[in-house]
Parts: sequence; structure tokens; C-alpha cells
Amino acid sequence: SSGSGAGGQQQIAVPGVKAIVAVASGKGGVGKSTTAANLALAFQRQGHATGILDADIYGPSQPRMMGVSGRPESPDGKRLRPMEAYGVKVMSMGFLVGEDTPMIWRGPMVQSAIQQMLRDVDWGELDVLVVDMPPGTGDAQLTLAQQVPLAGSVIITTPQDISLLDAKKGLNMFRKVDVPVFGMVENMSYYLCPHCGERSDIFSAGGGRREAEKMGTELLGEIPLDIVIRETSDGGQPVVVSHPESAHAQAYLSIAEQV
Ligand code: ADP
Repeated sequence: SSGSGAGGQQQIAVPGVKAIVAVASGKGGVGKSTTAANLALAFQRQGHATGILDADIYGPSQPRMMGVSGRPESPDGKRLRPMEAYGVKVMSMGFLVGEDTPMIWRGPMVQSAIQQMLRDVDWGELDVLVVDMPPGTGDAQLTLAQQVPLAGSVIITTPQDISLLDAKKGLNMFRKVDVPVFGMVENMSYYLCPHCGERSDIFSAGGGRREAEKMGTELLGEIPLDIVIRETSDGGQPVVVSHPESAHAQAYLSIAEQV
């Protein structure tokens, strides 16, 4: 079905997909893709049929993070069949153009690429589709937030003031187009020393909680800066699957439960 959604923009439902959750950030490099991958795997582990759409088409990182490569097939010559990793369906521009190809696209082309990856892909029956959004709060993101029928969004930030400021912009962007914000995740929240296990608040502590309160939203979780998270996500085996019993995995599962 289709309808007139947020801000009067035309929204077209994605057949077979029950809920679409956007994972967004005000700026790049804060761990949005890492969180999106682990969140998708957490949903899957909780028994929900899950997919992940890598809409970060300027820097697609889901093929690497989910540890899946190759080219999607199109059995009917019309729709692409998504790739699959750890039971999660994965679609990314990275499968179609290669990770090293620079994307120098203008806004409207970005829109149509993402629309195609949403609708011209045979997602099958999904309970949840996680969308790894392009970083930032520009026109492209705003239009996407309007055109995709989103159940809600999760905003990733680091504890630094500058990132929190951008997170606030992200929150306002979603509110402007009437997309619910489930809450914020503070990533790289503190540092865990791999040798002694001591916790250091290198980016100053408590910012996420404070800002979430100020903005009237939830702090869904605090994920530490930990080499295990980096190695596993960059190595294609995110912690939720490679260290299923770890505190990190539990933190992502708890975030998924609140969404
Ligand atoms: P974004 O999608 O916001 O650009 P990424 O998820 O690609 O950010 O993360 C950027 C880099 O930081 C990646 O190398 C990733 O493995 C690493 N990273 C993300 N979160 C953490 C964390 N909590 N601890 C350690 N490294 C992390």
C-alpha cells in the first residue's frame, strides 16, 4: 500500500517488511555502521526475521562488517535477491560497485539508489529491516526519512560535545518529519583497558545521558571503546555473533529489546 507520510511526502510500503528501523548519526565515524550491524544481529538472535539495508552509499561498509561479498542474483530478471550473513539478509551498494569505487553522486541519485535498494530487492518476509543511514542531517537524509515508511530511528553519538550537537540535529530532523526516535546510543562511551580492565572516560562521561534527558529521549545503551568491537566488526564477525556471551553482545541485545 502507499500513503502520504511524513511531511506530505509520498511513502510506499516495502512489501513483506513489517518494520523499518533507521540507524542514524549526525556525523561519520561515530560507529553507526558497527551499531547497525550488531543491532540487526541482535534482532535476528531474538527470533525476528531481519534484514539490513546499507543506505550509506557513499561509504558502504556492511559487506565488510557482515563478512559477506559477491554479487546479488536476480532470478526473475527484475528484483535482486539480497545476500545473507548469519541468517540476516543484506543489501548494499558495495555489492554492486565494489568498496573502493568513489561515489560522487548528487542528492536525487542517492535518493533513487536507496529507493531501488528498498523496493527492487526481494526481501521476502521480514519482521525488521535495519537501515544503516548515510551520516549527516542534510537534504538527502531528510528526504529519506520522509520517503521511507520508518517505524522509528536510533541515533548514534559519541560522548563528545561536537558529536552530541550533531546528534541533536539528527533528532530534530526525525521529529520534523514525524518519525519516532526510539533513543540514542552512546558509542565509544568509555575505554576498557585490554590489559588491566580499567575503565577510562576519555571523551568525558555522562554526555549522552545528559543530552538524551535534555532532548526528551531515551539513552538506549552505552558501548565502550574496545578493540574487540573494532576487530570483530572490521573483520566481518560482529561481537553479537563472535562473542555471543560477552557484555558487549548483551548491550546490543538490550538496545534491540528497547526498540
Ligand atoms: P560510522 O558508520 O559512524 O562511520 P563505523 O561503524 O564504520 O562508523 O566505525 C568507524 C570505525 O570505528 C570502524 O573501524 C569500527 O570498527 C570502529 N568502532 C566503532 N565502534 C567502536 C567501538 N565501540 N570500539 C572500538 N572501535 C569501534
